[in-house]
Amino acid sequence: MSNYTFKISGLSKYKGFLQSLQNSNHAVILFSKDKLLLDAISSLYVMMQECDNEYKPCMFCDTCQKIIDKNALDVEYFGEDKNIMVDDSEAIVSSSFVVPYEFKNKYFILKNFDEATVQAQNKLLKVIEEPQKFDKFILLVNNLDAVLPTIKSRCQIYNVPKLSIEELKNVFDFEVGQGKRVSFGAQFANGSLTALNNIFFDEQFEEIYSLCVKILTNLKTSRDVLEYSSLILKHKDKLNVVLEILCLLYRDILAIKQGKQNLVQNTEQLNVLMVLANTENSLALVNIIKEIESVKQKLKYNANISGVIDNLLLRILEIKYICK
Ligand SMILES: [Zn+2]
Repeated sequence: MSNYTFKISGLSKYKGFLQSLQNSNHAVILFSKDKLLLDAISSLYVMMQECDNEYKPCMFCDTCQKIIDKNALDVEYFGEDKNIMVDDSEAIVSSSFVVPYEFKNKYFILKNFDEATVQAQNKLLKVIEEPQKFDKFILLVNNLDAVLPTIKSRCQIYNVPKLSIEELKNVFDFEVGQGKRVSFGAQFANGSLTALNNIFFDEQFEEIYSLCVKILTNLKTSRDVLEYSSLILKHKDKLNVVLEILCLLYRDILAIKQGKQNLVQNTEQLNVLMVLANTENSLALVNIIKEIESVKQKLKYNANISGVIDNLLLRILEIKYICK
């Protein structure tokens, strides 16, 4: 997987953010939905602390290089290949007493900390509360609610700003000739490198996207419902993606209707969307979006997926009819 440390370091947004981290406590929570971004930011944080150059992190000195390559002796990573368990916490506790080999401080980068077991989190409370003077704990978290309040109260919590769509496109690694695919995926990634990475390598994504466009244009009668419902169910394990794209497309049509073209995300489908904006009515669009949002929630608890999808398509037709 790509390492974005270098590219992220070049964005002024993150220079400012790293400055604000400079004088943080010995324990911080870095919070973002974007795991690849968190990865880069945590490396940069360590570099800011350890790089000896005047303009830091310089990215080129031995110290910075080791941190980028993840082979610095005093930086330990946990939670990368598997979630943090009690035995990891025990390893962290015992290592936290060992003085650093080469750096000023010793760093524990605890990835996916929101996935750590409750016991594992509990086991770290004491060491986070009364650390050695050289210890720094960096907790990377996608979901703050899953972190014990007792851990949160002992850490400084930083919300890592997300990338803009333009920054995302500039930063993302791709090969010559794939630029269009990147722009396409970036529309759905919500400023997240991780999301864009997942979309980019997902073979099903474009198929799902064109299916959604077809539903928007061709779903006209209840006879179409069965056909499209079975096409959607081919992507059973990606229903959230289907619903997400449908939602985005309907939002775009609504934006066009309201004259807010600058908000349109699916610029590649602009012509299709503009035609639809002429035929669909705003109230119907608002209600359809609400309906899709509620289905997203329902699917979390409802096992009868095909029933839920059939219903959604029928509801879309019904809403269009009522709002005519
Ligand atoms: Zn350096």
